[in-house]
Amino acid sequence: MKIHKYDTVIVGAGGAGMRAAIEATKRSRTAVLTKLYPTRSHTGAAQGGMAAALANVEEDNWEWHTFDTVKGGDYLVDQDAAEILAKEAIDAVLDLEKMGLPFNRTPDGTIDQRRFGGHSRNHGEAPVRRSCYAADRTGHMILQTLYQNCVKEGVEFFNEFYVLDQLITEENGVKKSAGVVAYELATGEIHIFQAKAVIYASGGCGKFFKVTSNAHTLTGDGQAAVYRRGLPLEDMEFFQFHPTGIWRMGILLTEGARGEGGILRNKDGERFMEKYAPVMKDLASRDVVSRSIYTEIREGRGCGPEGDHVFLDLTHLPPEQLDAKLPDITEFARTYLGIEPYTDPIPIQPTAHYAMGGIPTNVEGEVLADNTTVVPGLYAAGEVACVSVHGANRLGTNSLLDINVFGRRAGIAAAEYSAEHDYVELPENPAALVEEQVERLRNSTGNERVAELRRELQETMDANVMVFRTEQTIKTAVEKIAELRERYKNVAIQDKGKRFNTDLLEAIELGNLLDLAEVMAVSALARKESRGGHYREDYPNRDDVNFMRHTMAYREVGDDGTETVRLDYKPVVQTRYQPMERKY
Ligand SMILES: Cc1cc2nc3c(=O)[nH]c(=O)nc-3n(C[C@H](O)[C@H](O)[C@H](O)COP(=O)(O)OP(=O)(O)OC[C@H]3O[C@@H](n4cnc5c(N)ncnc54)[C@H](O)[C@@H]3O)c2cc1C
Repeated sequence: MKIHKYDTVIVGAGGAGMRAAIEATKRSRTAVLTKLYPTRSHTGAAQGGMAAALANVEEDNWEWHTFDTVKGGDYLVDQDAAEILAKEAIDAVLDLEKMGLPFNRTPDGTIDQRRFGGHSRNHGEAPVRRSCYAADRTGHMILQTLYQNCVKEGVEFFNEFYVLDQLITEENGVKKSAGVVAYELATGEIHIFQAKAVIYASGGCGKFFKVTSNAHTLTGDGQAAVYRRGLPLEDMEFFQFHPTGIWRMGILLTEGARGEGGILRNKDGERFMEKYAPVMKDLASRDVVSRSIYTEIREGRGCGPEGDHVFLDLTHLPPEQLDAKLPDITEFARTYLGIEPYTDPIPIQPTAHYAMGGIPTNVEGEVLADNTTVVPGLYAAGEVACVSVHGANRLGTNSLLDINVFGRRAGIAAAEYSAEHDYVELPENPAALVEEQVERLRNSTGNERVAELRRELQETMDANVMVFRTEQTIKTAVEKIAELRERYKNVAIQDKGKRFNTDLLEAIELGNLLDLAEVMAVSALARKESRGGHYREDYPNRDDVNFMRHTMAYREVGDDGTETVRLDYKPVVQTRYQPMERKY
């Protein structure tokens, strides 16, 4: 076991982690630990753009952006945080431009902007051009630009280091972050990173669904590590289903396709979104569009022999526009479906996409131990965190924005904290939990297989806690997850070796997914209303009297060792906007 000491340790090298690292490295001795090579992080898969009210192509301002974000989140958004997001968006984009990001340009040379779902002029009058983009490779460009700037700043990376545990030490009755425990893929060695400040930027957890846009690696390791240590997770029942995944595969086709004029059609060729969202039409918020698609399918207007999908139609757009603005996704349609988007509509269905919930933080990125107390030295930013700027449903292009705005804020706050504080003593046997976990899996003679349990988990999540939910379906999921968690105790791996043991790590990742799936389902069962991405057919209306509040889920361990999820609630911060009925 090796022990390292750094002022600031960042877990994850996606957009949030690297944006934080650029700030933290200037102010403190910083290490970034990442299970993937930085440029393979999921941020690199982001397509459509990053929101900022630059008003380069038409009138816009940050207040309209704030309003759209709050409305998009079905009023569960903390409005002080949304205001920061929208205001700081402008500098966030300009900072990336100065770092060298090649945005698409208008004819007069400013950053070009396009339409995206839920972003509107003057509180919903009409769609507005707010998304700054680099073709349909915006995330790729952000990730490369941030990585180059990390190299320039001399950021120290530990690549293929898996963080498996959060170290907490109690000092005078206060729980403080002492560092993290990591497993090195190449050697199988366990490393302790003692740090004055730790920032989690480890991304989402979409892999508990089967049809998903998320990469294989999005297994919620960061959320699971802090949850296991008794810290809460906020609003986990809110998961976003993006309307346009490639049929049956879930691979994403950006909303930018509709921003460029693409239209959704049912089997009769009808532009059905006109019925559900008369003003914003195909550019209504994602929860609304995904529900509309499934309503069409359920009522028999789906396409194909099984009627299980609808079409994304780009055929009326000039080929030059598709080539210039949407080169990747049109290529995906050719590669994965053998379809020519110039002439044929593309079969799509909603795909599990984004975790609105996560590790609760305040606007400085400080992690909360309960509704009000922060954990000294612990920070989180990006998809792993819940600030909450996305509330019950995130608007497209607000996540690339979130990782830049709150990644930067967390990087500064954590480094300033490290400058003013000393190391917290490590707990006794800091590696004990990870060593025990690794040894148990290596020595297990059980008869359960990781791939099989993961498949069953994903199937139950897709069937029971997707776009439409009821008490009955969620209960089915809760029971199935409990069964899978029991069977997980007998999981065995085939590779018993030390070097590059991905078998072992996939088993650990599955354990994380099971923990988070349980939190999600239990949180969803208790929320007896419909709001944003959480739609209960048995409670189809939003209920502000009883549920205008954030869910806070805690792990409780009984005297006999049984684990349960305990739920508590936290008020929503409302400043300017009173909740209204949500119409698009
Ligand atoms: C296909 C797709 C398209 C998208 N398009 C857009 C878009 O156009 N606009 C928009 O705003 N949003 C978009 N999103 C959402 C957005 O891209 C993500 O929410 C955002 O990039 C997440 O960034 P992040 O830095 O939080 O995490 P990620 O980029 O996922 O990075 C996570 C990092 O954590 C590391 N990590 C994870 N676990 C561990 C561990 N145990 N130990 C060490 N390191 C770990 C990984 O190695 C990785 O470096 C899209 C998402 C997808 C999936």
